[in-house]
Amino acid sequence: MREKYLITPQKRIEEIMNEIVFDGHFVYSAGGHGSKYFDKSWITFWPLLTAEICSEIASQWADENVEVVVGPAIGGIKLADRVAEALTLINKAKIASLSIEESIEESQVPEEGDGIIISSSYIVRIFDDSYVPEEIRKATIPALYTEKASDGSQVLKRGMELIEGKRTLIIEDIVNSGGSLLSSILACEKAGANIIGAHCLIDRSSGKVTPEFLGVEKFEALHLVEVDNFSAEECPLCKAGVPINTDRGHGQEYLNEIAAKQKQEE
Ligand SMILES: [Zn+2]
Repeated sequence: MREKYLITPQKRIEEIMNEIVFDGHFVYSAGGHGSKYFDKSWITFWPLLTAEICSEIASQWADENVEVVVGPAIGGIKLADRVAEALTLINKAKIASLSIEESIEESQVPEEGDGIIISSSYIVRIFDDSYVPEEIRKATIPALYTEKASDGSQVLKRGMELIEGKRTLIIEDIVNSGGSLLSSILACEKAGANIIGAHCLIDRSSGKVTPEFLGVEKFEALHLVEVDNFSAEECPLCKAGVPINTDRGHGQEYLNEIAAKQKQEE
């Protein structure tokens, strides 16, 4: 019965995705109604699950010389962080034969308190990376995030100095219209980033979001799903009187709006 324990990464991703999909009557963030809801935040509540998912994403970009990872807030922040960590570990494994002690020239070895702490062959903390060999410095990949401006677009407010001219990968949780992903890409490009691609956990765009749409060479998804998405007026679940789920998605807000409208009309 050994087969039971053999599982491909793709199968494992499916297993995880099946755990976070809920059936019912939901209101999505863009206002559409449908019968399936992916509770993407559930994954990020569990660090090991997040790490597992993000390691899989990272492994698909391991040979692309990624230098910066960016996630659109809120969902992309934790994911970008763990993808950057996984890519850093992959990079370090690649150069594991290079020991930091050997590579720092004798004359450059900093005194204690100079802002670098070296633990065996790993750099634990770096305050001033001028002591660190280029190869190791490049191996450490920063994770940045773009955030929502008042007009709804994504803006890069922090870490601009880390992104200029760098090979940048954007990580998103769920792609529906692709709007926030595109907005995040544009914000990074504005800061001078060289966007090499984007990767999402779940692509629900039914093929609408493509590399061409995003203006990047490569757009990947861990999981592709087809879900029904109706306008509120045409929703068959509403017509059939199926109660709207208020625990997940934007059901409660939708019901509040309807109640407010009814009150106005009275
Ligand atoms: Zn409905």
